[in-house]
Amino acid sequence: MIFYKNGLRFSCAFCGKCCRIKDGYVWLSRGDVDALVAGTGISEEDFRGIYTETVDGAVVLKDFPNGDCIFFDESIGCKVYSARPLQCRTFPFWPENLRDENSWRKAAEFCPGIGSGEKHDFEEIMRNIASMKGMPE
Ligand code: SF4
Ligand code: SF4
Repeated sequence: MIFYKNGLRFSCAFCGKCCRIKDGYVWLSRGDVDALVAGTGISEEDFRGIYTETVDGAVVLKDFPNGDCIFFDESIGCKVYSARPLQCRTFPFWPENLRDENSWRKAAEFCPGIGSGEKHDFEEIMRNIASMKGMPE
């Protein structure tokens, strides 16, 4: 039986850990770029030049030298929260975190929001997994 058949609890504690991963990337889809261009209010050309780079042929958000996402601010958190990319909106309901209970437990060791707060039902979790199809892991 799929371990999350009855849903999973998660509410973001806004600790910022997932915005400060030294060796991670935030991959951007076409829709993500459109939303962020609208959210930042600058041209797409400027947005791409200031905030993005290309890794293995894919567009990703730049990081600060310490690994923090370019949109992360210590005092306010994500500066583009309402326009944040799909990868950020669907965390922690990523395929690799939902492979089995052990993967979910490991994700919970990293993310303090996992395991408490809002209950997310099976259908919502499946929608998140489906929306992440095609994104690099
Ligand atoms: S690690 Fe979890 S609790 Fe912390 S900001 Fe990210 S999603 Fe929220
Ligand atoms: S876009 Fe926002 S939510 Fe996503 S990693 Fe950057 S700061 Fe965090």
